[in-house]
Amino acid sequence: MAKEYTLSIIKPDGVERNLVGKIVTLFEAQGLSVAGIKKVQLARKVAEEFYGEHRERSFFGELVDFMVRSPVVVIALHGENAIQKNRDIMGATNPAQAAEGTVRKLFAKSIGENTVHGSDSAKASEREVGFFFAASELL
Ligand code: ATP
Ligand code: MG
Repeated sequence: MAKEYTLSIIKPDGVERNLVGKIVTLFEAQGLSVAGIKKVQLARKVAEEFYGEHRERSFFGELVDFMVRSPVVVIALHGENAIQKNRDIMGATNPAQAAEGTVRKLFAKSIGENTVHGSDSAKASEREVGFFFAASELL
């Protein structure tokens, strides 16, 4: 399997609780490397565009309110099978259903405040990494 890039976002609840280092440690322990990382305060329009696929969902307003509440940390991860590996490290969307040892089982408070985002396909990872990083910023 070729090496891939994927986007992780440590959401406001994770950054507010100073969990960035603990979460990055979980990625690195599974062989994923940080190719780019930055702290960003998302503007409402930016959060709405990023999560545009969910615009019609009942929770969209709540999701955008949460994502703009305070800064997030966006991370371009790189490694073998990075897209699926990151999803496995994150755990299920609802922390009550997340497997032991996953980020969401360890740290998430609710289905809304679930600590991390991860690209869910090759197409999504290409869009999402490009949303936050220029090619020259992936090192
Ligand atoms: P993400 O896209 O953030 O990586 P995901 O792919 O596991 O998460 P999605 O179905 O894409 O889950 O939902 C996007 C985000 O919307 C979730 O991570 C969560 O923050 C929020 N969300 C999803 N379902 C609900 C819900 N029922 N109530 C409130 N928020 C929700
Ligand atoms: Mg998703």
